[in-house]
Amino acid sequence: MRLYRYIGPQQIADRVTASPAGCPIRSAADVVRWARESGQQPGPDGSVIATFVIDATGLLLIADRHSEHVACAGRLPVRSAGEITFALSGNEVEITAVSNQSTGYCPEPDSWAAVMESLTASSLEPPSGFSPRCVFRLCVRCAAKNIVKDGVFECGVCGAELSVTYNCQTARAESDD
Ligand SMILES: [Zn+2]
Repeated sequence: MRLYRYIGPQQIADRVTASPAGCPIRSAADVVRWARESGQQPGPDGSVIATFVIDATGLLLIADRHSEHVACAGRLPVRSAGEITFALSGNEVEITAVSNQSTGYCPEPDSWAAVMESLTASSLEPPSGFSPRCVFRLCVRCAAKNIVKDGVFECGVCGAELSVTYNCQTARAESDD
């Protein structure tokens, strides 16, 4: 399974410690406990949104949605990253949405397989796929990270054409910032 290195700003990585801030989730009960102990305030529909990563061993780690993915992961490479939405009702946990929206790691849409595998191993029902499903590309002209919109492969900063193939985990991406 592919691993994604952190490719966001170095200053953010420098602020976080090497021990993962994310809470390991192996069951629905772990989600309920995390929500209670971290003082999450569910919305009127019972929903709680969290930052998540899937670590190199396939374990789901979640943290408060205002956390950086690199902090959640303890600066380590991940199999996927994004936001996860839970609907909580007593001890019932439903996963209503998962996105791969992480500009720190830029995971590909097909990292969904890692999410599905991890959730299934924790007896949590995965939704049908990423929503939103982000396609990340690095602009080779100006080095901006882009989320491709409506299938238009054009840099939102400088207008250059974006690569049709995934290119965010290159040496160049690692050294920008
Ligand atoms: Zn550009």
